[in-house]
Amino acid sequence: MNQARSLRIYNTLTGKKEIFEPIVPGHVGMYVCGPTVYNDAHLGNCRTYVSFDVIHRYFRLLDYKVRYVRNITDVGHLTDDGEDRMAKGSKLAQLEPMEVAQRYTVGFHEMMRILNTLPPSIEPRATGHIPEQIEMVQDILDRGYAYEKNGSVYFNVPKFAAENPGTYGSVSGRILEDLYAETRELKSQDEKEHPADFAIWMKGRPQDLMLWKSPWSVGFPGWHLECSAMSTKYLGKTFDIHGGGNDLKFPHHENEVAQNFGSCGCAPAKLWMHANMLLLNNKKMSKSDGNTISPAELFTGTSQHTSKAYSPMVVRFFMLMAHYRSTLDITDEALLAAEKGFKKLMETNKILQSLPVDSKAFDGSENDHDRAILELIEEAYKGMDDDFNTAIAIASLNEIGSYVHKIANQQLPADAIAPWVLEKMKSTFETFIFNIFGLKDDSAESGDDGTIDGLMSLILDIRNHARTQKDWTTSDKIRDTLSELGIQVKDGKEGVSWGKA
Ligand code: AMP
Ligand code: ZN
Repeated sequence: MNQARSLRIYNTLTGKKEIFEPIVPGHVGMYVCGPTVYNDAHLGNCRTYVSFDVIHRYFRLLDYKVRYVRNITDVGHLTDDGEDRMAKGSKLAQLEPMEVAQRYTVGFHEMMRILNTLPPSIEPRATGHIPEQIEMVQDILDRGYAYEKNGSVYFNVPKFAAENPGTYGSVSGRILEDLYAETRELKSQDEKEHPADFAIWMKGRPQDLMLWKSPWSVGFPGWHLECSAMSTKYLGKTFDIHGGGNDLKFPHHENEVAQNFGSCGCAPAKLWMHANMLLLNNKKMSKSDGNTISPAELFTGTSQHTSKAYSPMVVRFFMLMAHYRSTLDITDEALLAAEKGFKKLMETNKILQSLPVDSKAFDGSENDHDRAILELIEEAYKGMDDDFNTAIAIASLNEIGSYVHKIANQQLPADAIAPWVLEKMKSTFETFIFNIFGLKDDSAESGDDGTIDGLMSLILDIRNHARTQKDWTTSDKIRDTLSELGIQVKDGKEGVSWGKA
C-alpha cells in the first residue's frame, strides 16, 4: 500500500471534499483537541477519538509518516459560570488540581487502551506549555489584535475580523453580524470592549488554584490558546489537519484560527475535520445534561439504557458502522445489531483464513467470481479513500464474506476462486479488521467459550438462594468477592446480570 491512492477529505473550511495533498510529501501533521481531564470520559468523547484513531491508522497504512498530536487540557477550560473545570473538580474531591488531572488522564489512557486506539505521537499538556502560550499572547498584542485590561488580555475580534476579511467565522460558518447579535449583551462586570472578544490571558482571582506569572498579571491562559500554541510548537505554523468534535467548531476552533492568524498572519491548518456527535435519546451525549452512558456501564451491563453488557470491541465496531460525519444514536437495538455484525465479521475471517489455497489445481483463468471479489476489495478501499467511510468498507467486506460462506457451505466449489484472489481476500480481511478498523478478537477475554458464563450463572444462583433464605453473610461475601475481582452484579427487572469493570 502506498500514497498513490488518492484520498478525498471533507474540509469544514470549504464545505467540500478535497484531494488530500500533504504540505511535506509523505508526511501528515494532525492535531486533535484532547480531553479536559476533570472527570471520566463519556462514550461521546470516545467516539471522537475512535474516529480519529481510524483516520490515523489509515494514513499509516498508506505509508504516511504521521505526527499525531492530541493534547490534554488541564487548565483554562472554564465552566459557563466562569470557574476553571479543573479547579471545580479538585474542590469537589478535595484534591490538588494536578491530582485530578493525573487521575483522569490515567483513566482516559486506560479507556483508549481498552478501545484499542493507538497512542498519539505527542500528547502535550496545557500546563506544560505556559511559556509558549505567554509568548503567543505577546505576539498577538504586538500585532495589535489584543488589548490588556486590569491584568487580563482580550482578543479584539472586531478589529481582527475587519482587517482579515473572511477569516473569523470560517470554521463555524457563522456570519459575523449574527455572532455579534448573539453576543450583544455585555455583562456589567465584563472588561471586554466587545461581547465577541475573548480572554487569552486571565488575571487570577482568589478562587483560582493554578496560577503563573506573566508580563500582565499572575494568572492563567484562556482555554483556546493552548491548542494554538501547542499545534504551532509541534506541527509548525501551518500544518495539514486539525480535528475535533463538531461541538468545538464554535467558539474553540474559531478562536484558535483567530489566535494563530493574529500571532503570525497565517492559517494554522489547511484542513479542518469534525467528527459528529454520539446521541443518546436523540440528544447529544453530554455529561453536564446527565444524558450519558459511561463506557464502564456499557461494558458491565449496568446502564439503565441497555439490556446487557457489550464488549469494548462491539462498541468500537458500533461506532465504525456509521461514517464519522454522521450523528450516531446509541440504542440497545443498534448495539445488539453491532454485536451480531462484529461476531459475524470475526467468524467469517476465521473461516476465510482456514480455507486452503490450492495453486496447483488452478487453471490460470479469471472468472466472474474473481472479478466481482476484486471489485468489492477495491470498493472497500475506495470507501476509506472517500473521507474515511468505514460504513462502506464494512458493507464491502460483508459482501466478500458471502463468498466465503458459500465456499464453506460448499455452495461454491473451493476452486471457483483463483488462488491469488483468495490470498488477496485473506490479506484484505486481516488488514481491514485489525489494522484499519483497529478491532481485535476479544471473545477469549470475555469468556465467550461459555465456561465463565456457566460459572457466573452458578454463583449468581447460589447468591439468589442465599438471599431468599435471608443468609446475608453468604450473599454479601459473594458480592464483595466478585467486586474485588472487578465483577459488578446488577439486579434489574429482567433478572440479574453481571459484567467486568
Ligand atoms: P471535552 O473533554 O469536553 O473537551 O471533549 C473531548 C472531545 O470529545 C471533543 O473533541 C468533543 O468535541 C468530543 N465530544 C464531546 N461530546 C461528544 C459527543 N456526544 N459525541 C462525540 N464527540 C463528543
Ligand atoms: Zn483544542
